[in-house]
Amino acid sequence: MSKVTSKKYRSWKHIPLALQIVISIVFAVSLGTLLSGQAANNPDLINHLATPCNLILKALRALATPLIMLAVLHSFLTADIPGKSGRRLATLLITNTTVAIFIGLFVANVLKPGSWGSLAAPLSTEAPSKTLDPWGLIQEIVPDSILKPLVDNNVIQLIFMALAFGVVLRALKAQQISEDKTDYQAIERVITILFEAVIRILHWIIALVPLAVFGIVAKTVALQGFAPFKALGAFIVSVLLALCLQACYYLLRVKFGSWVKPTHFLRGGSEALLTAFSTASSTATTPITFEALLEKIGLRESSASLGALVGSNFNNDGTALYEAMSALFIAQVLGLHLSLPQQLIVVLTSIFASVGAAGIPEAGLVTMTLVFTSVGLPTQYIALLVTVDWFLDRCRTAINVMGDMTVSCLLDGKQRRVE
Ligand code: ASP
Repeated sequence: MSKVTSKKYRSWKHIPLALQIVISIVFAVSLGTLLSGQAANNPDLINHLATPCNLILKALRALATPLIMLAVLHSFLTADIPGKSGRRLATLLITNTTVAIFIGLFVANVLKPGSWGSLAAPLSTEAPSKTLDPWGLIQEIVPDSILKPLVDNNVIQLIFMALAFGVVLRALKAQQISEDKTDYQAIERVITILFEAVIRILHWIIALVPLAVFGIVAKTVALQGFAPFKALGAFIVSVLLALCLQACYYLLRVKFGSWVKPTHFLRGGSEALLTAFSTASSTATTPITFEALLEKIGLRESSASLGALVGSNFNNDGTALYEAMSALFIAQVLGLHLSLPQQLIVVLTSIFASVGAAGIPEAGLVTMTLVFTSVGLPTQYIALLVTVDWFLDRCRTAINVMGDMTVSCLLDGKQRRVE
């Protein structure tokens, strides 16, 4: 590569991702408008604009299962969870995530953001056909073979397997430590390195997102004009409203379930929330969240570390809310009806998908494919959401971090620590 090109490449890379996406959208809208008059003459060229986006979505789908598997195994092997607090932590996490999903589905059902604009369904789209069959679900939990969930992208089977192996590896590690053996360290290192490798590949894919956005926005504008974006505007408003309701729920829980006052909580945690918004990564924010809980809010170290360090691996309420709303939104955009049982499947898979989402930018998009597949929604429509995800990701990450902080406060209880 010549010096000039490599310098250009470096400077593009140094533009923040959000800005890269905004630039891509501006260029894409101009190209799409230029091409819109020629849709009839040049259908192939216009359709091929979606190729980068399709490739990126395929890569994300392929990475989703190893990412979930490794994230769960990694957390089990490396996190420090004392027994009783572990159970309380699990109950809090499940309750908060379920509330988040119900808030998301409630807002999406009431506002119906997908009906504000319309989109032509792709030829292959069929009405979602899966209904809730509890017995079928139970029978499905156990996979036919160990590798099948990885191949089929079946998130429930995958989490089942990951939890089984996670629990066993954790127990083996404890046993070996008590016997002064170190064999477990080898597998711990392998899992840590593989986890980091998958995350690095994910970063490569994320670096290509502006290209995908460019292609898909240009194609959509060329073929369908601006109607789909009108629907997306409604979607953004709905997601923001649902996230605000979730934030109010956290404040109420903090007020009634801990000694911390909501105003003190917001003031002490503001730096962590702003960092979450600006990095779009709850993992990157973790040290700041921990420090805020400990120093600024004044929690005990055990509660701060359980909520902010351990819980943050599993706790992604903002992501869960977003994934459930996205599924409903796309169904509405396509004019497909998701029945109540189907929405319950969305609730279940969103819980698992949010547990599996890593705390890095755009991770929610990866596991979203699993939620869509669970109710038979066409995953290619996730491409539409890519265009607004850079912004919504930041907002849901702040809620993910606020959720970790809330859990820490609740674990700290109603009695303030004695200095
Ligand atoms: N960016 C989010 C986080 O770091 C995950 C997501 O994409 O939803 O918490």
